Amino acid sequence: MEVDVLIVGAGFGGMYMLHKARSLGLRARAFEAGSGVGGTWYWNRYPGARCDVDSLEYSYQFDEALQQEWQWSERYAPQPEILRYAEHVAERFSLKGDIQFNTRVEKAAYDEAAERWRVTVSGASETWETSARFLILATGCLSSAKLPEIEGIGRFAGEQYHTGRWPHHAVDFSGKRVGVIGTGSSAIQSIPLIARQAKSLVVFQRTPTYSVPARNRPTDPAYEARVKSDYAGFRARNSRMLNAFGSDLPRNETSALSVGADRRTQAFEKRWEHGGLPFMGAFNDLLLNAEANTAAAEFVRGKIQEIVQDPATAARLMPRQTIGCKRLCVDTDYYATFNRPNVRLVDLRESPLEEITPAGVRSGGVEHAFDCLVFATGFDAMTGSLLAIDIRGRGGLALRDKWRDGPRTYLGLGSAGFPNLFTISGPGSPSVLTNMMVSIEQHVNWIGECLDWMRREQHECIEAAPEAEAAWGAHVNAVADRTLFPSCNSWYLGANVPGKPRVFMPLIGFPPYVEKCNEVAARGYEGFVLG
Ligand code: NAP
Repeated sequence: MEVDVLIVGAGFGGMYMLHKARSLGLRARAFEAGSGVGGTWYWNRYPGARCDVDSLEYSYQFDEALQQEWQWSERYAPQPEILRYAEHVAERFSLKGDIQFNTRVEKAAYDEAAERWRVTVSGASETWETSARFLILATGCLSSAKLPEIEGIGRFAGEQYHTGRWPHHAVDFSGKRVGVIGTGSSAIQSIPLIARQAKSLVVFQRTPTYSVPARNRPTDPAYEARVKSDYAGFRARNSRMLNAFGSDLPRNETSALSVGADRRTQAFEKRWEHGGLPFMGAFNDLLLNAEANTAAAEFVRGKIQEIVQDPATAARLMPRQTIGCKRLCVDTDYYATFNRPNVRLVDLRESPLEEITPAGVRSGGVEHAFDCLVFATGFDAMTGSLLAIDIRGRGGLALRDKWRDGPRTYLGLGSAGFPNLFTISGPGSPSVLTNMMVSIEQHVNWIGECLDWMRREQHECIEAAPEAEAAWGAHVNAVADRTLFPSCNSWYLGANVPGKPRVFMPLIGFPPYVEKCNEVAARGYEGFVLG
């Protein structure tokens, strides 16, 4: 079937885009590599996977009845519940009829004469071509799972898992010797649960991570009722937050350096008790001023020292980098897990990872034997799944070539040379620094309004102007350079992927971004070339 809008991905971005396109009367179809909806939440089924944004915020707001009827069981919804929610949305809006599952988009080439995208798609046993006027990439920011590039990868003879490609069946670690490589968010959520099951667990840590307690708990019915009595107002307040979440405990707009040490500790303590990502909002300059940041980092290091009984292990677990410049982790019992007799930490800075062997992992000259190996080694973030598709724009220009030195977009929505192509939560937009659900809806609403406007104004084609794109790239960098974000090797910078250009990919600050997008639209899509 030839469609108006072809969507890649049926996660929360692709699902809402499909609904939006259909509600505008456009013929739309989504292609999804997985066998079901949910994107991130479809793939990341590892033990302990759950959201780190409050459930009542991490959900769609486009339909009042939907947000009223759905009930979240916990403050931070577990992965199976989020997946059930995605399934519920797909059913409620009859989305599945227009989603082709188990299908991967391999290639998309813009046919300038026909003004259509020619798209090559492959299923289990066949490959075919289809076409669409608009190509919308809802491929997700953290979808391209990354294995470490080390000797012997693939040689392990036992069970091997990546947190971002977890099997659909339950994995039982009982009585097993387990190794986990990585200590990012996925590792921090899964390690306490694996430790409870496994006979022994060895955690291989390259960079210690800052983590704050989640303080997860069952949903408080009184709180839920309060939110639902004015859900629109609650959503509006959250959208005005820097990261589009957390209006219940907004950032304290004073400098950490304007108060004495005791007041600072009290403020950190209060947020530590509250739990979750709002910790970084204890003061307004924790990610702007190195001295303020050190105060927060010291506080967390102090907590690690209190929690972890063995002083040598505590010291190894203490991060030294800027707190928050890698995404802050949110845990339940992570540090305390290292007090268990069956858990051991291997510091890869002391004992470098040498190779994966058929028996396990060799580091620092020692071979650690395992029955199961878990790679919690993250993703080729933000660009990985976009560039996995061979995308060719005007004159056959490959997106992979255009982005060789880092992604170049206008507003994180479009890229010059690639007409009628939109990215949902693309690089250059706030995306991963925000509540993703809010960013996704903002992008889909903007794209939907744009498509509707083009139809009314009889435009066939929209494409980012090179000058607007260059200015936008400079702006995204300039905003990041005013902060401490570029100061460590984070995946925001692509630093976790050997050879990836070091460019800060997301834009900091949701409200000014929304204002800019609205302004661009109000000015007849300023910065875009229309045909
Ligand atoms: P990640 O944050 O990139 O962590 C990957 C871990 O693997 C890091 O500790 C990294 O060490 C280590 N690693 C990577 N390559 C390695 C190598 N060659 N040798 C040794 N260690 C290696 O990935 P993630 O934990 O999957 O999380 C990614 C993002 O997904 C998060 O930041 C978050 O945005 C999102 N997420 C959110 C939640 C949630 O709470 N809702 C849960 C999971 C994920 P280095 O630090 O030294 O690179």
